[in-house]
Amino acid sequence: MTTPSAHMGTMAVHAGQSPCPTTGAVMPPVYLSSTYAQQSPGEHAGFEYTRSHNPTRYALERSIARLEGSTLCESSDASFGGFAFSSGLAAISCLLDTLTAGDHVLAMDDLYGGTHRLFRQVRARSQGLNFNFADLSKLDEVEAAITPETKLLWVETPTNPMLKLADLEAIAAIAKDRGILCACDNTFATPILQRPLASGFDVVMHSATKYLGGHSDVVGGILVTGCPQLAETIRFHQNSVGSILGPFDSYLVLRGIKTLDIRMRAHCQGAAQIAAMLSSHPKVRLVVYPTHSSHPQSELAARQMQIDGTPVGGGMITIELDGDLAGCRRFLESLDVFTLAESLGGVESLANHPAIMTHASVPAEDRAALGINDSLVRLSVGIEDVRDLIADLQSALEAI
Ligand SMILES: *Cc1c(COP(=O)(O)O)cnc(C)c1O
Repeated sequence: MTTPSAHMGTMAVHAGQSPCPTTGAVMPPVYLSSTYAQQSPGEHAGFEYTRSHNPTRYALERSIARLEGSTLCESSDASFGGFAFSSGLAAISCLLDTLTAGDHVLAMDDLYGGTHRLFRQVRARSQGLNFNFADLSKLDEVEAAITPETKLLWVETPTNPMLKLADLEAIAAIAKDRGILCACDNTFATPILQRPLASGFDVVMHSATKYLGGHSDVVGGILVTGCPQLAETIRFHQNSVGSILGPFDSYLVLRGIKTLDIRMRAHCQGAAQIAAMLSSHPKVRLVVYPTHSSHPQSELAARQMQIDGTPVGGGMITIELDGDLAGCRRFLESLDVFTLAESLGGVESLANHPAIMTHASVPAEDRAALGINDSLVRLSVGIEDVRDLIADLQSALEAI
């Protein structure tokens, strides 16, 4: 076990894991068993049934809890602060399950499309929750949108796909003042760039499908909290509702996390170079990248998103092309190293057309208000040689 003061690169490899006491296996074994033998009724080694307890899932839950800086992760029983689910949306659903019909949820207006759909089209009806969407990058809008029924503040930063930022410390302070739970979807930044619990947030959520897994070969979700009561509540709902991450998928995410630090450094470095190239390209109308000087919140980005004290912008870039939908299609069809696909955060570079692909479920008028138009393209910069990525983009831009 590593000490909590270890650097992130060391924690990514070791946190929450130690060699198997029986065999010395360096990687945690994949425990596929659904049930565990008891010596006498109720007497067992802490494991009864895999929905409730699984050693491989525990290894992942401990690892991500440590990386996100949860102070609950020292404990060897089931009260540590990390929880793994069958998808990112299952993780969000579990947090919503801790709320009660009539509660109000205030969320960022520019959200992952699936989160928006879950809130508006499912949980508003099935659970009777009330959702409101506001531009949480503006603090006065946060204050104005809070009601006496507000129980949860849901923040994504940077957002998907417009890469808007929310000031984590300021929002946590507003929530704390009013006794409102605040949760941050940290999928885009990962704990390598920002740790919302340290800024005062109660919960961090991840789509482990993206950077944590990192290889586009597993779907999973994570919740982490540093609050003991909330950990108990989440554990109860995770077990009661049952959308846990399976043992093999837990292993894959854990394996991905081992290279998270080194991958995030490569993603950030490549993306910064690509953003610089695109911002002087005549076929590109707009480049949105958090640490780029043209980003309206580049100062906040520099303060909030860092590796080793150096500001970094992450691996995602959003661009508006100087062309219509047909031109945009030609660009996307001409890419060769970039793959046209949904999702993000893998070692391979992906390009996505939000309006038609990932954000089709967001109502057209909301898309327009957010700036998600037909010329918008979202890039997930992988860890290939950046010279090949730049050449690929330059050549495809000629096709517009
Ligand atoms: C993908 C994604 C999700 C949903 O996660 P799944 O694993 O696809 O269920 C939530 N938030 C963000 C920011 C995402 O990118």
